[in-house]
Amino acid sequence: MTDKFAIKDENGMEQYFDGIAKDKKDKILETKLLIYECEGTESQIKEWFKTINIAGVPLVPQELLNAIYSGPFVTLGKEEFSNSQNANIQKWSAYIKGSANRQAFFERALDWVSKGSIDDYMSIHRNDKNINELKRYFNSVIDWISSVFTDVESEMCGLEWGRLYEQYHKKAYDPKKVSAEIRKLYGDPYIKNRKGIFEFILCGSANTKFLEVRIFDEATKKSVYASQTKKAESKGKSNCPHCAIGHDANKSKIWNFDEMDADHVAAWSKGGKTTAKNCEMLCRTHNRAKGNR
Ligand SMILES: [Zn+2]
Repeated sequence: MTDKFAIKDENGMEQYFDGIAKDKKDKILETKLLIYECEGTESQIKEWFKTINIAGVPLVPQELLNAIYSGPFVTLGKEEFSNSQNANIQKWSAYIKGSANRQAFFERALDWVSKGSIDDYMSIHRNDKNINELKRYFNSVIDWISSVFTDVESEMCGLEWGRLYEQYHKKAYDPKKVSAEIRKLYGDPYIKNRKGIFEFILCGSANTKFLEVRIFDEATKKSVYASQTKKAESKGKSNCPHCAIGHDANKSKIWNFDEMDADHVAAWSKGGKTTAKNCEMLCRTHNRAKGNR
């Protein structure tokens, strides 16, 4: 025989279980629960939770913090951020990794408003009867992301949006231009790190370190080195084109392959390709002097 039965969870919400056999239901209802009531300072309670968190499915850090700082603030926070029925969850999921049940959104909201000091923030606000500041800050980050980046890309999920918001939200962006630039960069086969595209754009589309632009492979470097060196030797000049036009002792120096690095003749950021035609070997010093392009 089966029937419906409900138990109340920690928030007083009724959770229904369908089709549970009577013997199992009785077993659940008759199971003796071991309940610890702990008193003490926050740090003592924290230690205690760490101790008992070894058995069963371990609590994630935010679940532990919710238990330690339980009170009106946590209850309200969970109602907003840990309720999988909240219609906003889908929108939030574009930018935040994880599930509402395991506190991913509550954790991120706290992380953003507290600039990374979740523990302290929860301790200070533990007895607050509202979560206005938390909600306001969280929504300003989310609204900012969706106003700057009108398209949603899978690589946006899990970026450090709290830090990016703090760093860039006062700058003005044209969402249409941003969208066009994203399309262009997504189509560029030389970009290895697509997750970096967003901060690359936010900080002014100049710093290519965010993109990890693909570098020349060994075969290309070796063949460019060989032809460059052959030409240089026949002219009695250095095989580093920058050394060759200099006036010091290095102007006729032939560098070994492992003393040189490959460089884009036309910078990648100016449309230069990562192909043999656009590859030039420079001595280490001159390559470094050309900087990050
Ligand atoms: Zn040089």
